[in-house]
Amino acid sequence: MIENALDKLKILADAAKYDVSCASSGADKKNNGKIGNSIAAGICHAWSTDGRCISLLKILLTNYCVYDCSYCINRVSNDVQRASFTPEEVADLTIQFYRRNYIEGLFLSSAIEKNPNHTMEKIYRTLYLLREEHGFSGYIHVKTIPGADPMLIHKTGQLADRMSVNIELPSTKSLKLLAPQKSVKKLMEPMEQINNGIIQYKEEKRHFIHLPKFVPAGQSTQMIIGATKDTDLSIIHTTEKLYNSFNLKRVYFSAYVPVNTGSNLPSLATEPPLKREHRLYQADWLLRFYHFNAEELLDPSQPNFDMEFDPKMTWAFRNMETFPVEINKAPYEMLLRVPGIGMTSARRIIRQRQIANISYDHLNKIGIVMKRAKFFITCNGKFHGQLDMNPEGIKEKLAPKPKFEQLSIFS
Ligand code: SF4
Repeated sequence: MIENALDKLKILADAAKYDVSCASSGADKKNNGKIGNSIAAGICHAWSTDGRCISLLKILLTNYCVYDCSYCINRVSNDVQRASFTPEEVADLTIQFYRRNYIEGLFLSSAIEKNPNHTMEKIYRTLYLLREEHGFSGYIHVKTIPGADPMLIHKTGQLADRMSVNIELPSTKSLKLLAPQKSVKKLMEPMEQINNGIIQYKEEKRHFIHLPKFVPAGQSTQMIIGATKDTDLSIIHTTEKLYNSFNLKRVYFSAYVPVNTGSNLPSLATEPPLKREHRLYQADWLLRFYHFNAEELLDPSQPNFDMEFDPKMTWAFRNMETFPVEINKAPYEMLLRVPGIGMTSARRIIRQRQIANISYDHLNKIGIVMKRAKFFITCNGKFHGQLDMNPEGIKEKLAPKPKFEQLSIFS
């Protein structure tokens, strides 16, 4: 049994690196006799509502787990070094790191030790010590353990800033295959409870001044990408449903890193699908801010994102009859659908139009990426892309040029 808190920290910070349900960035620069040391795991970053970057101590409370999820390094059947913090140790470490200015908050996740209630109780106790005994008012994000007593989840929510329940896989079939001890129902229950608690808090705070806050930074979740055969369509469908049903702040996607062997798993030589993860984040952005819905982005005849072009561009290629869009007339929602026009430039166009018509020369200054947008817009009725443009022609113009290597004349 490991007793030393720093030895536990090494194991439990490393074990936490697979959880991306708080915005995180891993770094593995070694200290080669110079100043500073960014260890492979341990500190991650999240963003506050006002856009500030907050550094968090990111650890597991324990990596002893009674579950046996196929994809997970901490599953009960793996022979890995195990450790478990006490709530007192996590609270002390957080305070010490905070005082040394290493961190501004805590991201506490956990495997399921003994049973959900035992683990959730330890998480609650950690937060209680931090908030009530140490007076810590920094940011805290904690993992909710599905199956734990709703009262425990509620009390924890009154002390945390953000909570997350990791759905892990996008479909019931995949959960059955790789995590048979979990079920969609069991995962949805705490999500629903947290959502209801947040709504209730917002309603009641109008009448009660001293009402304890409840998960003020909202809830999030993570999905593993590439461990199963689920398509991008099924992933973004689930994502959309989660946003609509539980008002989630974020759905994080985590490219599957093969750590275990198994007949149901990709081979250990499989590269994490990072580009696919990136495309899903782009699609997620379109769902949340660009008024797209999942069905518009993909359909059963084309269930996965194009790796060459981003999802908005791919949508535009499939909907060429919608274009060109007149910059001086189109509504905000339509401007948002033009490749090369973002939210800021769409807002600027609307504002500028109220003063005077926008000229073609002005478009660059507004922040539109003309290289892409020119094929999809007219400005004062004039089209500036090539007249015979079709999706294939535009793709050819926009596709990244192949990199040619200069051959050595001596080889
Ligand atoms: S419950 Fe969590 S920690 Fe335990 S095996 Fe499953 S994914 Fe891993």
